[in-house]
Amino acid sequence: MIRKERATIKHLIQLQDLVAARAQQQASMPSQRLQQLDKSIKTLDDELPIELKTHFNRLLQKSIEAIVPVTGDNCSGCGFALTKTMVNSIHAGDELNRCPNCTRILYAPAVPLTRRSPRRRWGDPVKRGVERFSAPELMIASLKGTTKEDVLLEMCETLRAEGYIENCTDLHDAALRREAIVATAVENGIAFPHVRGVEGGGLTLTLGISKKGIKFGAPSDKPSKIFFYMVIPTAASAFYLKLLSGLTKSFATKEARDSLLNAKTQEDLWKALVKATKKMIQ
Ligand SMILES: [Zn+2]
Repeated sequence: MIRKERATIKHLIQLQDLVAARAQQQASMPSQRLQQLDKSIKTLDDELPIELKTHFNRLLQKSIEAIVPVTGDNCSGCGFALTKTMVNSIHAGDELNRCPNCTRILYAPAVPLTRRSPRRRWGDPVKRGVERFSAPELMIASLKGTTKEDVLLEMCETLRAEGYIENCTDLHDAALRREAIVATAVENGIAFPHVRGVEGGGLTLTLGISKKGIKFGAPSDKPSKIFFYMVIPTAASAFYLKLLSGLTKSFATKEARDSLLNAKTQEDLWKALVKATKKMIQ
């Protein structure tokens, strides 16, 4: 019984990751590669007991986060404070617990990913658009890495060095696991690597440019040059898809992409990002 529920939790997380990957593909690359994902989703879905399947799909229709980790003693989906008994039961992993408030299924994260809050400077003006999710220090005008792993690690390290995440190991592993589901590279040399379900903090974006380009699994097999790496807390999941679609639209033209590719310094890159996203990201 115990082992069975642990396996079910894994199964549900896997299913949810696929559904999320499908939504991401739709937002960044409509009509591409959905068949393969749909097939995998159906396989996992059909293996669920009927009652759980109905409940889980009903949750998924409302939000992309149907199974969520507990954050301390709270449901990370809605913030509801859970009883000690329930938190203990979730950590034991021997039964499926539902949040009494939002009915999402709860699990204990295997490795909690913690993230520091973005630094706030006294007297900073109100942030708008892309400035709410990123900062000049998170711009990498020239990535050194030459492989997928290198580039992902380099961006992760930047987040850590600038104080946005506490450690890189878990985050980097999670980013690689996500790439293994289906590549986040889209057309036009753009890729959207990311990690969902991060504990605490706000959505954070770091942007890296590789002048030479890197094989990142784009549909055309062309190298990717522009990397929008995002760290997404559970609560920001729905918003993330809007941001993804806003970035896709902002960089649909060659002119906009070239403004990033031609930036020589961190400051230039930041200015180009803010300028190009002004209309689509508010
Ligand atoms: Zn909840």
